[in-house]
Amino acid sequence: SHQIQLVNRPTGWPTPEDFRTVEVSYGELPMGHVRVVNEFISVDPYMRGRMNDTKSYIPPFELGATMTGGAVGRVVESTASEVPVDSVVLHQYGWRDVVQEEAAGFRIVQEIPGVPLSAYLGVLGMTGLTAYVGLTRIAPVAEGDTVFISGAAGAVGSTAGQIARLLGADRVIGSAGSDEKVAVLTERFGYTAAFNYKSAPVRTQLPQEAPQGIDVYFDNVGGDHLEAALDVLNRQGRVALCGAISAYNSEQTEPGPDNMANIIKQGLSLRGFTLGDHMDLASEFNQRMSTWFSNGQITYDETVVDGLENTVEAFLDMMRGANTGKMVVRTA
Ligand code: NDP
Repeated sequence: SHQIQLVNRPTGWPTPEDFRTVEVSYGELPMGHVRVVNEFISVDPYMRGRMNDTKSYIPPFELGATMTGGAVGRVVESTASEVPVDSVVLHQYGWRDVVQEEAAGFRIVQEIPGVPLSAYLGVLGMTGLTAYVGLTRIAPVAEGDTVFISGAAGAVGSTAGQIARLLGADRVIGSAGSDEKVAVLTERFGYTAAFNYKSAPVRTQLPQEAPQGIDVYFDNVGGDHLEAALDVLNRQGRVALCGAISAYNSEQTEPGPDNMANIIKQGLSLRGFTLGDHMDLASEFNQRMSTWFSNGQITYDETVVDGLENTVEAFLDMMRGANTGKMVVRTA
């Protein structure tokens, strides 16, 4: 079987040369272990941060070690009665086609007829929960609110728009990087208005779409998007600082918003979060999301890339915006 390892710490945009593929063969299964064939592996923006040797909320990836990340697969061999053969499991041993580890590292999930297992990496999993935490706890949406979400056509953003509506928002505005994505936002993902941030400055487009201002901003992008949001946030507005992808591959520090004083004048709350600190919301999310999902109140898109050997390209393509909805790699 094959695994992908990080061999160089990139500066700016990573390149395929920063990674290598190694062949691994597993020995006999020790007691309490499982062997899992991965079906889908996740590529996520936070992985870019872990490629740097800097102190953060999670330690950097080790050089010369196999990459990790969310993945979903099926148990093919087991010496652990709690995780039997044929179980579908969610775990963190991504960037490889087969994994053999202690059973404790795997969580059994239920297959839903007609729904690909990749949904557990997206709408029903980490990115769905991120959208939910941001809009219920970090920057709670109230009935009648106007909500702005950047990175709106991505994994987190495409779920966030729909959750904002389900929580009672009146008007949900999204931004994305192509006209095709902008169309999808209003046609499929519950957005009432949307714009392409590449066609004109966000600072010009957002006020046109939000004549009454905005009450909540869910920030996936940072930079120009956060600045534009601070221009139009209403009094007592709330901001969930979820990500700042516009800066992840940048080699110099970007100039910041020039209107931070609005935070004071408008009495705004800007609150950052990392999902790991809010896992107590997971069971509430699972309950509400599975109801919404089975009632057809939540839809989702995925961009699926085939083959473990294309994982690095899939990761880079996601950072460049090639995906609508969650980007996943199909390994089986
Ligand atoms: P996405 O599926 O949204 O993929 C990334 C998207 O970012 C691309 O599709 C691209 O879309 C957009 N993008 C790339 N560069 C820029 C740029 N310069 N300006 C604006 N948009 C850009 O990824 P996720 O949904 O997984 O993650 C979205 C955000 O949420 C990220 O910032 C991520 O770090 C953050 N996050 C934070 C978590 C937390 O715990 N706080 C947990 C999970 C995610 P486009 O074509 O529109 O440019």
